[in-house]
Amino acid sequence: MNRLKASQYLPDESIERYSRQILLPEIGVNGMHKLSAASVLIVGAGGLGCPVAMYLATSGVGTIGIVEYDVVELSNLHRQIGHREASVGFSKAKSLVSTLKTLNSSINYMSFETALSDSNAKGIVKDFDVVVDATDNVSSRYLLNDVCVLLRKPLVSGSALRWEGQLTVYNHKTGPCYRCVFPKPPPPETVTNCSDGGVLGPVTGVIGSMQALEVIKILLDEDGVLYGRLVMFDGLSGSHRTFRLRDRDPQCAVCGDEPTVSELIDYDAFCGSSACDKIPSLKILAPQDRYSPEEFKERLLNDPYVHIIDVRPSEEFAVCHIPDSLNLPFEELKASPSSLYEGLQDVIVVCRRGNESQLAVKMLKDLGVTAKDVVGGLQAWSRLPGVSFPSY
Ligand SMILES: [Zn+2]
Repeated sequence: MNRLKASQYLPDESIERYSRQILLPEIGVNGMHKLSAASVLIVGAGGLGCPVAMYLATSGVGTIGIVEYDVVELSNLHRQIGHREASVGFSKAKSLVSTLKTLNSSINYMSFETALSDSNAKGIVKDFDVVVDATDNVSSRYLLNDVCVLLRKPLVSGSALRWEGQLTVYNHKTGPCYRCVFPKPPPPETVTNCSDGGVLGPVTGVIGSMQALEVIKILLDEDGVLYGRLVMFDGLSGSHRTFRLRDRDPQCAVCGDEPTVSELIDYDAFCGSSACDKIPSLKILAPQDRYSPEEFKERLLNDPYVHIIDVRPSEEFAVCHIPDSLNLPFEELKASPSSLYEGLQDVIVVCRRGNESQLAVKMLKDLGVTAKDVVGGLQAWSRLPGVSFPSY
């Protein structure tokens, strides 16, 4: 008769709690021991990080770490299901961990209330078995990739925007790393994130759940882990497609045969944009071509004839705008810079965060218009005391 060693038995409570997954032949008692001995680091406690963390906690992964510098905002709640209304204004890392504890109190949780950076990444990542990229910016993707290659950790990478999501596992077995596929970061002005482009909650839920699934398969050492392949999910048509990725690139700067990146670098500088998407990252105009939010507030209060051009998309303009401002979406301006604006003087260009407004001012100046924009855009101005304008 086959006897299990005492250490292989599961406590009665665990048998009951995990019974439906223990019944799967690929999991069983051995699989449960693998999961409970494992540690997973989730970077980002947002739309992807919440479902990943919640499913891994309920599945019995022994140690879960959460890295997140931000606080919960009301605009997070439509998709970031690990946070509650009462947590608005408080640490996201703590908020998510407190939700996870209500789901499964037998797990060891660690929260890191910090932005992952080249100076702290190795120290945080080194003790975990698998890393989940649940961030939403290019700088963090390169940082996570490089630290995972240097420390030999698989990286479960997901992203979601509008109705679509993507998923793959980097740096696992013969598969490529992120740099093998994307050796160079895209120009910062071409990158759209959720807070600019919008996203639907269930789409982040689909991708986050699939990331949790990949983590579990890696921990169980199952075949079928999604490395060397990329899944693209289209929520609007209800379809998904799987693409083959290239193999590991022997020329890759970090995982190649003769790597040139052997230590972490300054990823914000490398990508030309910041990991913290709240900070307007483009610096195109000189300071004298820009109003501070305070100066803009003064002009609005004291100059009834001020000309404001709002370069946000018309859908956003319809949500809220400054009375008497003119909507000239940046995409339209870019497509057909018109002589219509010739002779316009002393124009103030606004956009949501003060990035596209800089590009628009540059274009208008080429047309002979004198214009300035507003640092931080409508968002920075709307946060000043005494200003009543919705923050979105
Ligand atoms: Zn590589």
